[in-house]
Amino acid sequence: MIINTNNLSFWESDSFLNYDVIIVGAGISGLSTAISLVEKNNNVRVLILEKSIFPSGASTKNAGFACFGSLSELLSDMDTMGPEKCLELVQKRWSGLQKLRIRLSDDELGYEPLGGYELFKPSQTNYLSRLEEVNTLLKPIFNADVFVDVSKQIEGKGFNTHVFQQMVFNPFEGQIHTGKTMHSLWQKASQLGVKIITGAVVKSVKQKIVQVEISTGRISFIGKKIIVTTNAFTKSLYPDLELKPGRGQVLITQPIQGLRCKGTFHMDEGYFYFRNVGNRLLLGGGRNLDFKGEETTLNGINTTIDKALREILKNEILPHDTFVIEQQWSGIMAFGEEKSPILKWIDPNTLLAVRLGGMGMAIGTELGDLASDLVLNNWKEEDDGK
Ligand SMILES: Cc1cc2nc3c(=O)[nH]c(=O)nc-3n(C[C@H](O)[C@H](O)[C@H](O)COP(=O)(O)OP(=O)(O)OC[C@H]3O[C@@H](n4cnc5c(N)ncnc54)[C@H](O)[C@@H]3O)c2cc1C
Repeated sequence: MIINTNNLSFWESDSFLNYDVIIVGAGISGLSTAISLVEKNNNVRVLILEKSIFPSGASTKNAGFACFGSLSELLSDMDTMGPEKCLELVQKRWSGLQKLRIRLSDDELGYEPLGGYELFKPSQTNYLSRLEEVNTLLKPIFNADVFVDVSKQIEGKGFNTHVFQQMVFNPFEGQIHTGKTMHSLWQKASQLGVKIITGAVVKSVKQKIVQVEISTGRISFIGKKIIVTTNAFTKSLYPDLELKPGRGQVLITQPIQGLRCKGTFHMDEGYFYFRNVGNRLLLGGGRNLDFKGEETTLNGINTTIDKALREILKNEILPHDTFVIEQQWSGIMAFGEEKSPILKWIDPNTLLAVRLGGMGMAIGTELGDLASDLVLNNWKEEDDGK
């Protein structure tokens, strides 16, 4: 019997509480998993429980780079995890991006194929000398050179040429409008019959029962399978999980007349990044300035990082332009010893699909696809009596 602390009627218990799959979290991972499940089997009754009024994790706070790794990041990954694992990760991110672009139109994503760049300071020239190494590694995926030296274009983009002396271009990178993307995913899930309940904070997941706190008290939902996609917030449910939160900070300017840089830009080995949003400039990063302070699930602005972002904007990126900062915010990512996400059964009926790192908008669709396969196959095996 369900614990009836909420004066539930028989009708409510009979019609509102039981689902085939309950997904916890409505970020890109949760929505993508739900959509994949229903696309593969439209008889599956799926409920998503989201703690906020709309998705409010990293998926609606990010910078909207449709990317799979800059030159310096990939070189670092090749050195730390080895070329094979690095290639595997790029493949997953690229596959996720392709699947996202099949699922939603470029209009729905606000996708712009403007390419991506990485800027290097005089102390960072060693990366360009290894460009061929990375291009050779990535050839099996892209069948072309991914990174091209375009250092001659630095001045034309209006950057400080004393600070930046080399630049590479990646034509396969693009940008999305994060708000449009998440809104469209939400809409798609709803159109496919996925139920989404917001303002529902999941407090525990036990033996197919998801206990939720809502404004009117506590309520228990029952799912044959549960999929937890709470990313950086997962430790509130599973404290021992190998996962660390990492806050990211972003600011955006008001429109700048004649803004010269268009596209997505990486700098300082991926720790800082900027892009145009129409004629605005969005800049984020700086977690490396205070790793310990930013290991939090609380949103907020770190004043040291804020100062650094403002200085970089004024002195390095827009030294010739007048601009006004319009808005600032933060979002929480999830990291671990390994860069790959966690996708595993934590008990026979509960699957974790979390820890998406700093390129989760790329990998989220792929993860959702894999998670849905695991659940559907697990069901099939149970039905077959294995
Ligand atoms: C500042 C910033 C910039 C970034 N830039 C990029 C980028 O340019 N490109 C890129 O690919 N990636 C980027 N990322 C990373 C990317 O946004 C994330 O990897 C990705 O969004 C993670 O998606 P998710 O669905 O797994 O998690 P989230 O989007 O965090 O979703 C988790 C959801 O679970 C909900 N939730 C949490 N706990 C509970 C609970 N107990 N009960 C119910 N619901 C709960 C949350 O409210 C949230 O909506 C950036 C991230 C940040 C923070």
